[in-house]
Amino acid sequence: MRSTAVADLEVTPLHMRKALGRFASGVTIVTTAECEDEASVHGMTANAFTSVSLDPPLVLVSIANRARMNERIRETGRYGVSILAGDQEPLSLHFAGAAHQPDLVRFVWRKGVPLLEGALVHLACTVVDSHPAGDHTLHVGRVERLWYDDGHPLVFYTGTFRSLELQGRDDPWGF
Ligand code: FAD
Repeated sequence: MRSTAVADLEVTPLHMRKALGRFASGVTIVTTAECEDEASVHGMTANAFTSVSLDPPLVLVSIANRARMNERIRETGRYGVSILAGDQEPLSLHFAGAAHQPDLVRFVWRKGVPLLEGALVHLACTVVDSHPAGDHTLHVGRVERLWYDDGHPLVFYTGTFRSLELQGRDDPWGF
């Protein structure tokens, strides 16, 4: 049992970051391209990704207004989401601009969308709505095609990466 009380804090950007960093998430690379040409691909690391609706199939990514990705998604009208596996932390650092490891980057093309080789899930999405929300923009995407594999996901929690080891396959929810 935790011994410390939950602190009542002012809502500042730092405290928002610390509080919301305690919501464990997976890690994705969001990608987009003008055409099926590697030279036109842009990618970035994002964990502000969520499923929105199953029917119709919708997801959303929240992209900082200052990120180059924002303008690129507006131009192309589509994006790919690669949900990373536990051994792909170096890729997430590369696409966050925190490390330079271009040799690790391998794209596969699906429905004209670039996705990262070795990821657990690939989604190819068309943008159906973009909502300004404070210093970010929410890009809602309709999933046109998807692919998935079993494996251990990369997890981001309080600013650090972990690989989630799955214990058995007890799955009462049908995942
Ligand atoms: P840049 O900073 O120019 O590009 C990002 C990096 O990707 C650069 O190093 C670039 O060399 C490389 N890159 C881009 N395209 C290619 C290519 N075709 N081939 C090889 N390398 C390429 N920000 C958000 O807005 N939303 C989030 O949800 C979010 N979640 C994050 C989660 C984590 C775990 C981390 C570490 C960061 C997150 N960020 C998020 C921050 C975001 O990833 C960085 O701010 C990123 O640098 C913004 O990318 P950019 O579009 O401005 O492009």
